[in-house]
Amino acid sequence: MYPAPFRYHRPGSLAAAVGLLSELGEGAKPLAGGQSLIPLLKLRLDEPSDLVDIARLPGLHFMQNDDGNMSFGALCTHARIGQSELAKTVPILGDCANGIADPQVRARGTIGGSVSSADPSCDWPTLLHTLDAEIVCHGKDGSRTVPIREFIKDSYTTVLDGAELVTEIRFRAPPANSGGAYIGFKKSAPAYPTASAGIQLTLADGNVCQEVRLALGAVGPRPVTSDEAEGLLRGKTLTEELLKQAAEAIVEASDPPADSRGSADFKRAILRSLFMKAAHRAMERAGGTQILGRHEYV
Ligand SMILES: Cc1cc2nc3c(=O)[nH]c(=O)nc-3n(C[C@H](O)[C@H](O)[C@H](O)COP(=O)(O)OP(=O)(O)OC[C@H]3O[C@@H](n4cnc5c(N)ncnc54)[C@H](O)[C@@H]3O)c2cc1C
Repeated sequence: MYPAPFRYHRPGSLAAAVGLLSELGEGAKPLAGGQSLIPLLKLRLDEPSDLVDIARLPGLHFMQNDDGNMSFGALCTHARIGQSELAKTVPILGDCANGIADPQVRARGTIGGSVSSADPSCDWPTLLHTLDAEIVCHGKDGSRTVPIREFIKDSYTTVLDGAELVTEIRFRAPPANSGGAYIGFKKSAPAYPTASAGIQLTLADGNVCQEVRLALGAVGPRPVTSDEAEGLLRGKTLTEELLKQAAEAIVEASDPPADSRGSADFKRAILRSLFMKAAHRAMERAGGTQILGRHEYV
C-alpha cells in the first residue's frame, strides 16, 4: 500500500528541525532511518501531515569515549555502532547492534529512532537499561537529559513532546572486571525478537557480584527490570542456584503477550533460558574471555 500523502521537509540544522516541528504541530513527525516509520506509513497505521527528515542533520552522527563518558549521536546507525571501537570496549553494544534485523535495516536504522519509537520489541531500549543510559532530548527551549528508565513511559510512548528530538545517548563505561551480554530469541534474522535478556555485571575475586543490571525485552509494554532480582545477586558469590533464583524473580516481573510468536508460558521458558545464557556469557567476558555475541534462532 502507498502511504497517505504528506509534506516533506529537510531542514539544514538541529535548530531549524525543532523550530519546524514546533511550528507544524501535532501532525508532523521526524524521519530518521525510516525503518520503523516507513512500514507504519505504508500500512497506513500512521498518517502524519508532515515528515521532517533529520537523517542528514549535521552533528548527530558522532561516537565518543571521553575518559569513560561514552556517547552516541542519535543518528548513528546500528551498523556503525556494531563495527565501532565502543562496541569492542563494551561488547554488549555489539551483541545488540549486530543482531538487529538484516544488513539493509542496520545500514539505515538509527539508535535515536529505536529509542524514540519505544517499540517494546526494539532491542536498544532494553539494552540501554543495562547500561543505565541517559537520553539527551533537544527542543526549542534547549536540552534536557532523561534516564532511560524514565524516558520510556509505555509501549510506543516516551517523555518527548512532539517538537523535541533525541540528540544523544550517553552512559558511563563499565569499570574493570565487567562483562555484559544481550541475547534475543528470534524466528529469523529480519524478525524482531520474541524475547530478549540483557545482563551487565562487575565481578570481584571469587565471582562476587559487585554491581549488576538486568533487563528483559519484548515481554511487556516497557523493558522489564527487577530490583529484587538484582538485589539477589549484588554482593553475593554467583552460583548456578543464585542465578536461577534471579532468573525466576525477573521473569516473574515480566508480562509476555501471547501472540503469533508464542504463548506467555512459552516466552517465560525462553526468558529463563536466555537469562542463564546471558549470565554465563557476561561472567566469562568479565573474566576477560573474548566471546562473539549471537542471538538464538528457532
Ligand atoms: C524488517 C525489519 C526488521 C526489524 N527488526 C528489528 C529488530 O530485530 N530489532 C530492533 O531493535 N529493531 C528492528 N527493526 C527496527 C529498526 O531497528 C529501526 O531502525 C529502528 O527501530 C528505528 O530507527 P529509524 O532510524 O529507522 O527510525 P524511524 O523509522 O525514522 O523513526 C521511528 C520513530 O522515531 C521517531 N524518531 C526518529 N528519530 C528520532 C529522534 N532522533 N528524535 C525523536 N524522534 C525520532 C520517528 O518520528 C518515528 O516515530 C526492524 C525493522 C524492519 C523494517
